[in-house]
Amino acid sequence: MSRRAVVVGAGLGGLSAAVALASAGWSVLVLERGKAPGGKAGTATVDGVVFDTGPSVLTLPDALDAVLRRAGSRLEDHVRLRTHDPSFRYLWPDGARVDVHPTEEATLESVAGSLGPEAAGELRRFLAYAAGVWAAAAPRFVLGPAPGLGSLMSPAAILAVTRIDGLRTMRAAIHAQVRSPHLRDLLARYATYNGSDPRRTPATLNCIAHVELGLGGFGVEGGIGALVEAFVAVALAAGVTLRVDAAVDALEIERGRVNAVRIGTERVPADVVIANAEVAHVLNDLLPPGTRHGVPADGEPSTSGWNGLTAAPDDPSRAAHTVLFPPRYEQEFVDLFDRRRPPDEPTVYLCDQSRAHGRAGWPDGRVPLFAMTNAPAGWNGPSGPLRERAEERMRAHGFTAPTWVWERAPRDLAARFPGSGGALYGLASNSVLAAFRRPSNRARGVRGLYFASGSAHPGGGLPLCARSGLAAADAVLEDAR
Ligand SMILES: Cc1cc2nc3c(=O)[nH]c(=O)nc-3n(C[C@H](O)[C@H](O)[C@H](O)COP(=O)(O)OP(=O)(O)OC[C@H]3O[C@@H](n4cnc5c(N)ncnc54)[C@H](O)[C@@H]3O)c2cc1C
Repeated sequence: MSRRAVVVGAGLGGLSAAVALASAGWSVLVLERGKAPGGKAGTATVDGVVFDTGPSVLTLPDALDAVLRRAGSRLEDHVRLRTHDPSFRYLWPDGARVDVHPTEEATLESVAGSLGPEAAGELRRFLAYAAGVWAAAAPRFVLGPAPGLGSLMSPAAILAVTRIDGLRTMRAAIHAQVRSPHLRDLLARYATYNGSDPRRTPATLNCIAHVELGLGGFGVEGGIGALVEAFVAVALAAGVTLRVDAAVDALEIERGRVNAVRIGTERVPADVVIANAEVAHVLNDLLPPGTRHGVPADGEPSTSGWNGLTAAPDDPSRAAHTVLFPPRYEQEFVDLFDRRRPPDEPTVYLCDQSRAHGRAGWPDGRVPLFAMTNAPAGWNGPSGPLRERAEERMRAHGFTAPTWVWERAPRDLAARFPGSGGALYGLASNSVLAAFRRPSNRARGVRGLYFASGSAHPGGGLPLCARSGLAAADAVLEDAR
C-alpha cells in the first residue's frame, strides 16, 4: 500500500512537494484553507476581469520546470513565458529614466544612453561580479540542502562565505563598485525581492541583479494564475487529491511523530505532513503546546506591502513594470526597518498585467495596472494613508489620479496567511547568519513533519518556493528509504 502524505497548503511550495511525492508513488492529499489553490500567487476578479494579486515577475523558470519534470511533464507544455520590451522602466523625481530590456546588452546600451557610458561600464562590471556571486551561492544556498550553523565552522565553509561576498552588506558592495546614484537605487531595490534591507543583508543578495537582468525576468501568458493552474493540473494528473476550504486546525503527535491532522472534528491520518503553511503558524498554532520541535522560531520577517489595482487607460508605450522612486530612496529602509512603519515617501511599483502577462482588460479598453508599496510586516494600520502616499508618488511622476478597483493592506495579508504577519517572502535575509538560521525542510524535533514554503529553506519567491517543495519531498523520500 502506498504511503500517505498530507500537504497543508496549496501554495507553490505545497503543490511542488505534492507533485514530487505523487510522482514517486505516494498517496498525496493537499488541504487548503482558502477557496482556491495558489496561496500568495492568487488571483481576484473585478467586473469580469481576472488579475494577479501576488507575484508579477517570474525568475529562474528552470526551478519550476524541475518540479514538473518529476511528473514527466515540462513547464513549456503548460505555459508560455513572455518578455515585453521594455520590461522595466525606472523613473526618478529628477527626471532620470532607465529602461531595462530583455537582454543584458540592450539594457547596458539603454543605461549608456540615459545615465552615460561611465554608468553603463559600472553596471557591466557589477553584473559580472553578481554573476560570480550567483555561481558560488546557488549550489550551496538555493539548490543544496539547508546550510546549518554547524556547517559554518569548516575552513571550506568560511572560504565559501567569502566567495559569495557574505561578509559585507549589499549596500556596501554596491557603493564600493557603483558611483551613479540612480544605479545605486536600482541595484539596492533587489534587496526588496525577498523583503530585506540592503543596509543589513549580505552582499550575496546582489546575485538577484544577475538573476533578473542577466538570466531574465519573465511574464506568463495569461498571468501568474496560469502557472498555478499548470501546477494543479500536473498534481491532479499525478494522482494528488486537492481539498479547498479545508483549514487544518491541529497536527497530532504521538511519541515524537506526526500521525494525523485535524480539520475541526475530522481526523485525517498521515504518514508524513508537509507544511506549506508558514512555519510560524505550524509552530504556534498547529503543533500541540509544548512540543519540542527544534525549529528556529526567531527569524526577522520579510516586508509586507500595500497592493492596489487600478483600471488604467491602455498605453502601448508603457513598460511591463514601472518603478517610481522617491527623492531619497534610502529613507524607505530607515522607515521600514529602523522605525518599523510604512515609508513616508514610498517607492511605487506598477505592473501593467496586459503587457507583462497578456491579461485581458475591460471592454472599454482599460487594462489592469497593479500597484505595490512596501510596508513592515506586522503593521496593523488601515489602507487609506498607504493608498494616499502611493497616489502622491504617482502624481509626482505625472500619472493621472488612479481609481482603485481593489486594494489590500498588510493586515489583510496577515489574516489571509496565518503566521505571516503579512510578510510576503517568509523571513528576511537581514544578517549574515539568516540563511543558516532559516528553518530547514525537516522539522528536527518532530519526525514525519517537513516544511515546504517561502518561510523555510531556501526562502521566498516563486522559484525558491518550488525548490523548497522539491527539497521537502526529497527529504521525505530519503527518510522513507
Ligand atoms: C504582492 C506580492 C508580490 C510578490 N511578488 C513576487 C514576484 O514578483 N516574484 C516572485 O517570485 N515572488 C513574489 N512574491 C512572493 C511569492 O508569491 C511567494 O514567495 C510564494 O508564492 C509563496 O509560496 P509558498 O509555497 O510559501 O506558499 P503560500 O503562497 O504562502 O501558500 C501557503 C498556503 O497555505 C495555506 N494554509 C495556511 N495555513 C493553512 C492551514 N492551517 N490549513 C490549510 N491551509 C493552510 C494558505 O491558505 C496558502 O494557500 C510576491 C508575493 C506577493 C503577495
